[in-house]
Amino acid sequence: MEEVLLEWAKAIHKENPVVDAHLDLAAEVYSRRLYGERDVVERRYLTDFLEAGVNVCVSSVFVSGRDLPEKGLHVAMGQIAALREDLEPVRDVICVVTNREELETALGEGRIAVLLSLEGLDPVGTDLYLLRAFYDLGVRGAGLTWSRPNAFARGCCKAGEMLEIRGGLTELGREAVAKLEELGMYVDVSHLNNDGFADVLGCARRPFVASHSDAWSVHENYRNLRDDQIGALAARGGVIGVNVCGTIAGAAIYPREQAVECLCRHVEHLVSVAGEEHVGFGFDLCNGLSASVPRLDFQVEEDDLLLNHREMLTLSAALLGRGMSEDTLVGVIGGNFLRYFRTVLS
Ligand SMILES: [Zn+2]
Repeated sequence: MEEVLLEWAKAIHKENPVVDAHLDLAAEVYSRRLYGERDVVERRYLTDFLEAGVNVCVSSVFVSGRDLPEKGLHVAMGQIAALREDLEPVRDVICVVTNREELETALGEGRIAVLLSLEGLDPVGTDLYLLRAFYDLGVRGAGLTWSRPNAFARGCCKAGEMLEIRGGLTELGREAVAKLEELGMYVDVSHLNNDGFADVLGCARRPFVASHSDAWSVHENYRNLRDDQIGALAARGGVIGVNVCGTIAGAAIYPREQAVECLCRHVEHLVSVAGEEHVGFGFDLCNGLSASVPRLDFQVEEDDLLLNHREMLTLSAALLGRGMSEDTLVGVIGGNFLRYFRTVLS
């Protein structure tokens, strides 16, 4: 039976768009290339991407606290350049896209499209003109903050903590939302606290996403969304990406069946509250990044409930086995985020 489900999942992945809306790819590539590695994406990710049928991957640009504030801009630009350079030899298979035409061309030619998104506006300091500069570098999405306070917002606590942090967007944060929307960049509310979410809901005019957050009702963690937030985001036309970080999802990686079951419960709950058109995947696979950076300001210890993108197939098979319809799964594995990105990039 399990083999049948896996084959069914593989067929669905092959025939339909598959999207990971959050991967710290640029940060890992930058770090590994600094230490002399080359062809990082090709050697560490490409086989799994192809195996799982990944068509679109959002690479975050994530600057660790040890580089802030002084080196934030420097490191963010370095990450974008490093990722572009790393993809150059495999440009016929995977490439950065910055507009609708490039996205459609990549998809049409069977290439994997990579979108860039800033995970926190720390690199711009307080200068909103730098948002324009990042747009010109190809960045098309941004979260106001990672789990730390900056000039724009306060953020929620880190995944391993359990602290309710209060305080929403600053005046500059509201201006940043308006500027991002004016530029044609999407707003990502993963890592905002509850006050910050409410403020984005109040000032955003366009649909926004939570690229890598789970459901609070399934596991109480401040990185996750409450049902009212899930409903509000969906009502605006946004999409929520299910996160496979064990601390956030609320499971240990072993036994494997329970890890996958935990992820299924998040997917199913999000679908039941948001509706099937507003749920996707933003796996947030962190083991690669944490192995590449000696001192991150968050602790990851082999915490990813899926070990690589190939294991997406296991998750999809499990969802089918639990009764999810093929139509719903097609949206969740990528159709919903692709529809959203097409709109943003238009
Ligand atoms: Zn994150």
